[in-house]
Amino acid sequence: MLRRANIFRLLVLCVLPLAVANSQQPASTPIVLHAARLLQVDTGNLLQPGEILVEGERIKAVGTSVDRPPNAQIIDLGDTTLLPGLIDAHVHLFLHPGAEDLQTVIESVPWRTVLAEQAAKADLMAGFTAERDMGTEGAGSADTAIRNAINQGLIPGPRLRVSGNAIDILGGHEDANHFNPAQHVLSNADYANTADEIIAVMREQHKEGSDFAKIYETGPDRMVPSGSPPCLGDPVCAQIEMGEEPGDPEFWQFHTPYQYTEAQLEAAVAEGARLDANVGVHCQGEPAARFAAIADVASIDHATQLSDVTMRLMRAKGIFAVPTFAIFEYFADHAPTPEAAAREHAMLDYKFREFRRQVAAGVPFAVGSDVGPFPHGTQARELTLMVRYGMKPLAVLQADMINGAKLLRWDGQIGELKAGYYADIIAVPGNPLDDISAVEHVRFVMKNGVVVRQ
Ligand SMILES: [Zn+2]
Repeated sequence: MLRRANIFRLLVLCVLPLAVANSQQPASTPIVLHAARLLQVDTGNLLQPGEILVEGERIKAVGTSVDRPPNAQIIDLGDTTLLPGLIDAHVHLFLHPGAEDLQTVIESVPWRTVLAEQAAKADLMAGFTAERDMGTEGAGSADTAIRNAINQGLIPGPRLRVSGNAIDILGGHEDANHFNPAQHVLSNADYANTADEIIAVMREQHKEGSDFAKIYETGPDRMVPSGSPPCLGDPVCAQIEMGEEPGDPEFWQFHTPYQYTEAQLEAAVAEGARLDANVGVHCQGEPAARFAAIADVASIDHATQLSDVTMRLMRAKGIFAVPTFAIFEYFADHAPTPEAAAREHAMLDYKFREFRRQVAAGVPFAVGSDVGPFPHGTQARELTLMVRYGMKPLAVLQADMINGAKLLRWDGQIGELKAGYYADIIAVPGNPLDDISAVEHVRFVMKNGVVVRQ
């Protein structure tokens, strides 16, 4: 999760209006989906009309017209476009709006798990059929239970890759730094201060069911006047800088300290390879991003500041940047004071300028929203923002679906509408190549051959 510094607000429970699927098992009879259009995401070809034959949990055939077995259920979706299910590569099922308050301290893990079940439903109903849960923020391996319950058809939700808790240094980004030490408030992540400790934590998380490791590699983040000396992690210095008024955006610079060295991240990636897991880092800027790219992480999340060297490495190695604009926009629009809003907007403006450089440099992207601190089920906004700030609609859909499938290690299984793939399919109104915001208004959702929203 991205953090806003030193802001603790009252808890606002989010109420999620939902339709719940009756059954999570695929139909025993074939289903034919018919719509005005079908997008072949890899090529950008638009089939008009588009049809998909679904048998069990898999796609059997795709075309402008497909075989209609006599016992098939025909679903006519009218003036919509059929797409693969959306993939969110950065979510927090165990957070709800108000994440900068004390929810991770006040709420029990069982209660948070109930809310996570609701969050998983909301995301699925919004068209997200696969997600990477980037840390339970203190709920340990409770995401293993959510993933397994979804896989067993007990509750509706996306296919999940889960990390359990994230990994963080003592006094780091996710530690409970500003509490009375005598109260021993727990970190939202698992501590690791050395390469050996990272490996031990990864083994513990793997034992508890994790699919990958999430590592906090930077923080706290600051917008400071250009030429300011770094605070080197000193919290008093950082608070003074955060308290200053941003002026001309060009005059302000982004600073963030690294948490792990290149060698420590390399140890994590090597252990991940042994466990058949990859590593995603929360990483806002340099030099940490370069450390992460050299270490061969799978994704650099937030990726606000990337040097030319880092961008070249990411392009050469296929390391995905996951910008998470939606959370930055939400924080900027929901800041508690005008001063805080000005700082958040300065950060957002900086991020947009850097994103344009990243697009021009050919950095590969996946799509992740950091949903949780803002309401689950609204995160398709991320695709709209990536188009607004410089990418073509087709490129964003390819980043979401094709790159997202790779990052979640389901490539060849999801992310495209092809025979043999899992039947994870959505329909959106109109044509998303003309107006990407169509993905914010999903009309139909099928996951694993099961219609969950119609
Ligand atoms: Zn996050």
